[in-house]
Amino acid sequence: CIANHTRFLELNSVITPLQSSAAWVQRVRDADVRRENGSAKSPLDGRLIAIKDNICTKSLPTTCASAILDKFTSPFDATVVKALEHAGAIAGPKTNLDEFGMGSHSTNSAFGPVKSNFRGNNGEPLSAGGSSGGSAVAVATEQCYAALGTDTGGSVRLPAAYTGTVGFKPSYGRISRWGVVAYANSLDTVGIISRKTSVARDVFDVLNDHDSRDPTNLSPNSRSRISDLLSQPQFSSRLASRPLRIGVPLEYNIAELTPSLRRAWLSALTSLERQGHSLHPVSLPSTKHALSAYYILAPAEASSNLAKYDGIRYGTRASGPDSEEGVTNGHLYARTRGTGFGAEVQRRILLGSFSLSADSMDNYFIQAQRIRRLVQRDFDSVFAMRNPLGTGAGAGADAAVLADYENDKVDVIIGPTSSSPPPSLASVLNDAEGTFASLDSYVTDALTVPASLAGLPAISVPVPILEDAGSGLNKVGIQIIGQYGDDNLVLRVGEVLE
Ligand code: GLN
Repeated sequence: CIANHTRFLELNSVITPLQSSAAWVQRVRDADVRRENGSAKSPLDGRLIAIKDNICTKSLPTTCASAILDKFTSPFDATVVKALEHAGAIAGPKTNLDEFGMGSHSTNSAFGPVKSNFRGNNGEPLSAGGSSGGSAVAVATEQCYAALGTDTGGSVRLPAAYTGTVGFKPSYGRISRWGVVAYANSLDTVGIISRKTSVARDVFDVLNDHDSRDPTNLSPNSRSRISDLLSQPQFSSRLASRPLRIGVPLEYNIAELTPSLRRAWLSALTSLERQGHSLHPVSLPSTKHALSAYYILAPAEASSNLAKYDGIRYGTRASGPDSEEGVTNGHLYARTRGTGFGAEVQRRILLGSFSLSADSMDNYFIQAQRIRRLVQRDFDSVFAMRNPLGTGAGAGADAAVLADYENDKVDVIIGPTSSSPPPSLASVLNDAEGTFASLDSYVTDALTVPASLAGLPAISVPVPILEDAGSGLNKVGIQIIGQYGDDNLVLRVGEVLE
């Protein structure tokens, strides 16, 4: 256990290690006995699940890797933590992240950057991806059975792709966000990182439930409408008795895609074709605008969410007087936020406040919302299954309305998760100005944000590549995206591919 803790610290993947105690060991032993008797509470009984530190736990602090929450311990457990414990799992330790989930390399943390399990050619540490990099490294280094992360624009899929693990982002609204510290509410999802897709499925099965405390959570009505839809023979036969129709998104073949990624994508598609599935080029023309729309919408929501951290209602208050002689009120507020938030979070607050201001609202925020609709429409136009949240796709409707296998419509879309393998950690650490590294890391999200804007289920699975001499990097991430509500198909295709 001590050896594990030292390793945690070296990789800086874990902020608060779960202290091994007699009670904890006993829980593992009890679960082992139950498993032997065939009376396990669930497949997660007695398993250690690491928790990203923006998910509330009452037994360990929740810092969001921010100095402004360095003294915060939640008085309650998030619904997902309760559900894991109820299934017999041991929820903890808490893992490192980009502050409040803002970043793509887990470098924007008050605790220092996460180091990947992979090393570059010269032995230099590589980026673990972000923002759930701590969860991904904890899983990759076998320090836990699986981990929870959050995925707003790719934060579970990108670290999975960079660390050779599986990262699953469910459909928006499937898993409760109650007790998950909000970054951008209309995009935030709880995601799962594991070494095998089957384990991600087991965790998903435990967490995929309605929670009335989260108003954005799928209602029981919508859930049963989706299950009815999926039980129609044209959908339940997919993969079971009918080969898949796989969409190959032309716009994901971007010029920046490195040859190793393009090769891995091709070999994944070829192996699926060899198994009898068919490939169909599809076009998602709004993809090229998705990244700009995301970086307007996510900071806008973040700037509003983070307003409450003022040192009075929430957050660690800066020391010193409320205001100084001749200085207007608000001095304490500015000092608290100026020292409590890191540079990237401050940048997002400024970006968000700007795009929401009266003068720029129409040109930025409203335009970005329009692009979001176009991105959603693109996906709906290529999937054979109608969007169950859209009109006319209710249970009991005519079969022709539910699915359209004419015109080259597809069951899933498969593309790369990122445009390149992980860069070196040094290259993504912000320079004194911070600006260039920030912009570069925004671009890293180009292939993950479309599914986020549309709220679709997506999984990144590791696919082998020829190992770079000496680097140990032998896998890259391939992403499978499904229609809204088609989470189980996405997981099953993940299993076929890994
Ligand atoms: N890298 C993206 C961002 O910084 C995504 C983060 C996330 O999914 N939490 O906004």
